[in-house]
Amino acid sequence: MSVEDAKYREVERLAALRELRLLDTPPSESFDRITRMASHAFGLATAAVSLTDLDRQWFKSRVGIDVESMPREGAPCSEVATNGSVLVIPDLALDPEYRDTALAGSGARFYAGAPLLTRDGLAIGALCVVGSTPRTFSDAETAMLRDMAAMVMAQVELQHAYGRIDPMSGLPNRTQCLDDLNDLVRTEAKGGRRLVVLVDLASPNEINHATRVIGANFLDDLIKEAADILRSVLGPSRLAYMLGPSQIAFLAPSGVVEAEYLQLLSMMLGAIRQNASSRFVTTVALGVARLEIGVTDPVDVLRFAHCAAQDARDTEGKVSLYSSEQDTLHRRRFDLINAFGQALDEPDQLNLVFQPRIALATDVCVGAEALLRWTHPTLGAISPGEFIPLIERTTLAKSTTMWVLNAAMEQLAAWRASDRDLVMAVNVSAGNLNEPDFAERVIAVLERHDVPADRLELEITESAIMEDAGRALEQLRKLSGTGIRLAIDDFGTGYSSLSYLQLLPIDTVKIDRAFIADCTEGAKQRSLVETMTKLSHDLGFQVVAEGIETQAIANLLLEIGCDEGQGYLLGRPMARDTFERWFDGADAANDTIAA
Ligand code: C2E
Ligand code: MG
Ligand code: MG
Repeated sequence: MSVEDAKYREVERLAALRELRLLDTPPSESFDRITRMASHAFGLATAAVSLTDLDRQWFKSRVGIDVESMPREGAPCSEVATNGSVLVIPDLALDPEYRDTALAGSGARFYAGAPLLTRDGLAIGALCVVGSTPRTFSDAETAMLRDMAAMVMAQVELQHAYGRIDPMSGLPNRTQCLDDLNDLVRTEAKGGRRLVVLVDLASPNEINHATRVIGANFLDDLIKEAADILRSVLGPSRLAYMLGPSQIAFLAPSGVVEAEYLQLLSMMLGAIRQNASSRFVTTVALGVARLEIGVTDPVDVLRFAHCAAQDARDTEGKVSLYSSEQDTLHRRRFDLINAFGQALDEPDQLNLVFQPRIALATDVCVGAEALLRWTHPTLGAISPGEFIPLIERTTLAKSTTMWVLNAAMEQLAAWRASDRDLVMAVNVSAGNLNEPDFAERVIAVLERHDVPADRLELEITESAIMEDAGRALEQLRKLSGTGIRLAIDDFGTGYSSLSYLQLLPIDTVKIDRAFIADCTEGAKQRSLVETMTKLSHDLGFQVVAEGIETQAIANLLLEIGCDEGQGYLLGRPMARDTFERWFDGADAANDTIAA
């Protein structure tokens, strides 16, 4: 090989070594196992996985060696790496090349090393064994050492390529992250503490939205750019890990002062926002969790950091530190979200109840609102006030609304078949309005159950519409165009401007319970409801009052001119059978009154 070729090969070799990102990583049991085995098999006290860096031999794994690395100069492993072939030195003291080296000086007499060869035939270092007395090395032993070196490389490849690197970002993935954290926990002193930082690049809703507006490559580009930024922020010696579709984690350096580090992260976040391209149309949030060595399980620390990142979304600085006091709450939320995903596939955990909607002037039940109920197998009934906001933050919102819609339309079809003609109201989540095919899927459900479009009313909150007003409008127009009725739920609690409401193709305004509950308490409260009703009527909307609990309120609302009412006074949410009995009874009562 010419000098030029040799130089070129050395550059390639070093590049391959760097690429594998093994240098300066913590010890790992999967390598230590092999070195221990080599030491035992040859009856030698010293064995090592020795990587040949530019100017040093760095030990990924070592038995019988105290130092982490030694100079490359004069190290037999360096020769193994350069030549890519096995080297056996039966007696270092007699070897003209090595008798004056540090290794020989340390009392070592025997050396054997087999190259650690990549698939491309580049030797990144050696698996070596060293003894304190001269000895021979048989062909069989040479073959065994070679086999063990191949095992080391199999492990390297396993870690590097198979299921450990995220293809999009090129970052090590969650499996690798957990392995590395476990190794860290094993090797760092008990009682120590490290901080794990989780960078959440976007909320699920933002991902859905941006993918639609910018295109399917949006997330890929976002991840690549974020990974590049983090690589340059962290430098070559510290790793970032791709944990989930939009989450990257890394470890803070040891010994940082928590408060200062959090501040640094805030600044880093600001810098990322400033320097990043327009792809960062999403909100990046940082969650930080403590890994207490010997106390925290690495799996938990990742979950904690994830929870903290979710919390961070609701804070101004978008950085949040996980505190153990929140654990019970977070744990419950986390468990609920997981369990709800399963509940959607189970036949008997979810069911609908129906709350009657009454025309105030005639006392006739004209419709019902379908409300979701969840009976958790061990925790029992979970209130929608608790689980709905949780799942609305996830992509489960899509399947949940479809589940409810389907069950509600099936019920409605059955009621229509038995002469109970009603309008069924179904609640829609904010995220649904971001689904490109939402309207089409709703229409498909109506068709499946053969229900006319004007028998379905979709309830949407003001805030859901305002989240992305342009897009919501597009969906609402599509829905309304087919004859489906649309209602603004919890009216008065959001911030939508009335002039904007006027542009929406809605049919109904449901005034929130908060206003109804105290409308009989004083002139101001009354006039608020009166104004909302009048204004809605002027804009051509039908008005429904939510949460009527007393007869006095019902009377006042009738006087004000409110069209319909819902509330415990008029009828509680009821299971199907109860609702049917109640409806048939109320119907009969009305007939009697009419007669
Ligand atoms: P909402 O859509 O405003 O539903 C009305 C809520 O007020 C229901 O609570 C109902 O039981 C309650 N309510 C009705 N009348 C009275 C009354 O006179 N007094 C009082 N104190 N409360 C009354 P629920 O069933 O617990 O649901 C809470 C919220 O959860 C709903 O508010 C809705 O936003 C959400 N939700 C329920 N089911 C679904 C669903 O299938 N999909 C979605 N996306 N959200 C749902
Ligand atoms: Mg509602
Ligand atoms: Mg409501």
